Amino acid sequence: MRRGSGDREPAAGREAERVGLDAGAAGEPEREAPEEPREERAPGRPRAAREGDASAVPPPPQPARARGLRLHREAAGKGRGCGRSSGNPADELRPPRPVTVDSSKARTSLGALKISIRQLRWKEFPFGRRLPCDIYWHGVSFHDNDIFSGQVNKFPGMTEMVRKITLSRAVRIMQNLFPEEYNFYPRSWILPDEFQLFVAQVRMVKDGDPSWKPTFIVKPDGGCQGDGIYLIKDPSDIRLAGTLQSRPAVVQEYICKPLLIDKLKFDIRLYVLLKSLDPLEIYIAKDGLSRFCTEPYQEPSPKNLHHVFMHLTNYSLNIHSGNFVHSDSTSTGSKRTFSSILCRLSSKGVDIKKVWSDIISLVIKTVIALTPELKVFYQSDIPAGRPGPTCFQILGFDILLMKNLKPILLEVNANPSMRIEHEQELSPGVFENVPSLVDEEVKVAVIRDTLRLMDPLKNKREKQSQPHKKPLAGKEGEGPSDCEPAGASDTNPNPEAHLPSICLKQVFPKYAKQFNYLRLVDRMANLFIRFLGIKGSMKLGPTGFRTFIRNCKLSSSSLSMAAVDILYIDITRRWNSMTLDQRDSGMCLQAFVEAFFYLARRKFKMLPLHEQVASLVDLCEYHLSLLDERRLECGRSSRAGGRAPGSSTPQGATRSAQQADGHPPCCTDSARKSSGPRRALS
Ligand code: ADP
Repeated sequence: MRRGSGDREPAAGREAERVGLDAGAAGEPEREAPEEPREERAPGRPRAAREGDASAVPPPPQPARARGLRLHREAAGKGRGCGRSSGNPADELRPPRPVTVDSSKARTSLGALKISIRQLRWKEFPFGRRLPCDIYWHGVSFHDNDIFSGQVNKFPGMTEMVRKITLSRAVRIMQNLFPEEYNFYPRSWILPDEFQLFVAQVRMVKDGDPSWKPTFIVKPDGGCQGDGIYLIKDPSDIRLAGTLQSRPAVVQEYICKPLLIDKLKFDIRLYVLLKSLDPLEIYIAKDGLSRFCTEPYQEPSPKNLHHVFMHLTNYSLNIHSGNFVHSDSTSTGSKRTFSSILCRLSSKGVDIKKVWSDIISLVIKTVIALTPELKVFYQSDIPAGRPGPTCFQILGFDILLMKNLKPILLEVNANPSMRIEHEQELSPGVFENVPSLVDEEVKVAVIRDTLRLMDPLKNKREKQSQPHKKPLAGKEGEGPSDCEPAGASDTNPNPEAHLPSICLKQVFPKYAKQFNYLRLVDRMANLFIRFLGIKGSMKLGPTGFRTFIRNCKLSSSSLSMAAVDILYIDITRRWNSMTLDQRDSGMCLQAFVEAFFYLARRKFKMLPLHEQVASLVDLCEYHLSLLDERRLECGRSSRAGGRAPGSSTPQGATRSAQQADGHPPCCTDSARKSSGPRRALS
């Protein structure tokens, strides 16, 4: 495929704001290669970084090997800016070293990554490196390596979080709280656990409205590329498949009226960068891809239910259809740019600003649904106070536009394909991978600009470039030529001058004000993590739960501690029987959320659920902040040999603090630490 001219100025990018959200710009087409395989969570982090490589630059002047890691950690500990002054003027003047990237685990994204690194004039370590690198690029998951510093392009737990069942659960919690805001995800049931519920709910609606003729789509958990997916008209059809026990799945309402172009169903792949978890930072790539079915669409009927080329938009399936069209243009064929679709819609008078704005909103809300549990994974894998990397991740969002242009979330991919080759049939049945210019252009831009946003030396470089008003060589405003060697940027005031403008657009915190009210579960997750107790744990023990109840003053004459224990046991047992992860005993975050909802309903009976929950979160945070203040005062007064306020004796002060939080006296640094944010998650 070749790029058409003018692709760079995508339709959506020319659009301004609607409902307060900028329209992003749309970009280029890609050939969609299969996703990276999904990965099961490996316990712990395997393997140390590999020994040096042939192309490695000599190590920076500082370290003897043994000191290398420690020094690096110190640098990392100063924040990712690395731009703080060392106090030594010579350091300020020394040209910054190139950013180092370990690409030894990049797998199928290696091609795009190599080009990105070259364009940035950074230093690649294709076989790993004895010394730590600034950035580690993993093809599949966080657990690809054992890393103690720098940045990794994967979050721990992301692969688990975006599996069909986990995503459906996370979104459902949000749908319970904010049904209107989360109606972009089709109603879903988890199989086999909710099979009876599914049957009962469908029967109920059908009884109320006999004209309702729904279709459902069954998707195996952890599947990809359309693998194992099928459509049904009635819940009883599921039993015929007979594989539920061996393969958990999600059954979902099928969107029967998708927007069609050229009579074909299509979906959209958008790239989203989760730059940081806490504080939350989200970017969206300005263009995406549209993947087309290869058989004209008809609403589902018993006759066409099994026509995969009509109903499933997966590239990996449709490539096998005789109707698949490889096109040289970005606006025709079976894979097109999303911008070309928007252009076409715009020419028909569609308000594409609203389409983009709705998509941005969908993306932010989905990430908000995922973050609470991601935080739990994060603190488990990278506990506060232990060395570890910071994380970022590129996600692939698959979105369907309905006929009325409402975007629907189909799924989120933790490892969207970043291949830059394209499969070509040389002769019948003989395929070969050939470079795809379009893939290269789209994916290299996403990877390169992700790296630019994550650049750990940016602050330093910017600082150094500030005194220079003019470039040292060449005309003012002229970027370095392409053949300039790596490192030439050291003397250039703007080392990014040769690069195109960044293709990733920040949407959060930019629109934080509009979406922060949705982050209730996030605040619950903070409470949950605070009471986890044991470092690295992901489940709350009975004592932790009791302490939470006591510290937040939730027990009362109508909720005894015995009732609290029963609540804990009931909910925990049920969740543990449902989830696959049986390694730890205790209460998982979803179980805690359920218990929290129960407590909120009891305490604030008359309010709608989200207000009940918000009130309870406020109350808990209020009591915990009082407690923290008291501990702080207690710490101060004990250091000063004084007494805690409100106590007549030092022992009394200790006792009252103890009674207040159900803990032993906690006037220690570690106690104070645990009451604040545990770690900046990014
Ligand atoms: P996979 O990970 O196997 O690709 P998806 O959830 O992306 O699974 O579903 C595969 C395809 O099925 C989608 O690309 C889309 O075309 C179609 N599809 C999935 N869910 C729905 C739905 N609820 N309504 C309509 N079509 C859907």
